[in-house]
Amino acid sequence: MRELRLAPHIHSSFSDDSDWELPRLIRVLRRAGFDGALVCDHDRTMDAGTWARIQHECDRLGDDTGFLLVPGIEYQDPDHIVHLPVFGRAPFYGRSPIIDDVVRRAREDGAAAIFAHPQRREAWRRFDPAWAPYLTGIEAWNRKYDGVRPNTWALAQAEQLGLPATVALDWHGTRQLYPLALRVPSPPRGDNRQRSGAVVSSMLAGRMRATAFGIDVARFDQGPLGRSTRGFESLRTWAAPKVRQIENSLRGQS
Ligand SMILES: [Zn+2]
Ligand SMILES: [Zn+2]
Repeated sequence: MRELRLAPHIHSSFSDDSDWELPRLIRVLRRAGFDGALVCDHDRTMDAGTWARIQHECDRLGDDTGFLLVPGIEYQDPDHIVHLPVFGRAPFYGRSPIIDDVVRRAREDGAAAIFAHPQRREAWRRFDPAWAPYLTGIEAWNRKYDGVRPNTWALAQAEQLGLPATVALDWHGTRQLYPLALRVPSPPRGDNRQRSGAVVSSMLAGRMRATAFGIDVARFDQGPLGRSTRGFESLRTWAAPKVRQIENSLRGQS
C-alpha cells in the first residue's frame, strides 16, 4: 500500500511565533518531498473562531493543491511545561487546559493527542503513565528540542508503555527542516476533510510509522544505529550529506 509522507508538527502563521502562511508552507514542504502536513498551532493564539478558520483554510488549500493538511492545536498545560498537539476535528478545549482532561476528551472526540518534546523544560518529569491509554504517541525525536538525535527517555517510554514513538519537525522555519516524517497509509480518494479524517483514524489505530532518514525511529535506539546515535559525532557525520541534499533542494524556494 502506498504511504503518505507527512511533515509532522507544523506551526503556521496562526501561531504567534511563526510567520509561515499555509500556502508558503505547502510550497516548501512539498519541495522537500512531503505529501502533506500535520499542522498544529498554539492554543495561546486560539479561540473557537480561529480554530474554525484554520480548519476551513486547511480544507480549502488542501483541495486546491492536493497537499493534505491535517489541522490541529498544540495545547500547553497551565504551567506551560507540558505540550500536547491534538490532531483532528475535536472542539477547541480552551487555552492552557488541564492535560489530564484533554487527553481523555481528545480520545472521546476521535482526535490524536501526542506528548510533545519531553526534553523541553524537562516536561518528561510531568509525564503521567495514566495518560498512555488515551495518547496516540510520544514524540521521540523533535527536531527543535532534540536536535540531531532521538530522545532516549521517550524511546524507552514508548517501548515500555506500548505507545507509538513519533517524530516532529516543530516547524517555525527552515532551521527545523530535517528528514523526519510520519508515514500513514494513503487515504482513499476524497476531499481534504475526508482524507485528513482518514489520516487521524490511522494514527489512532497505530497505523503509522515515524521515520528519520526513512528508517523507523525506534531503530535508532538499537544495534549499530543506536550506538551511532549515542555517539553524537558519528551520527552527525552519517547524517550530514543527507541533510545537505534537502537543504540544496530547498535553496531559493522559501
Ligand atoms: Zn511545543
Ligand atoms: Zn510546537
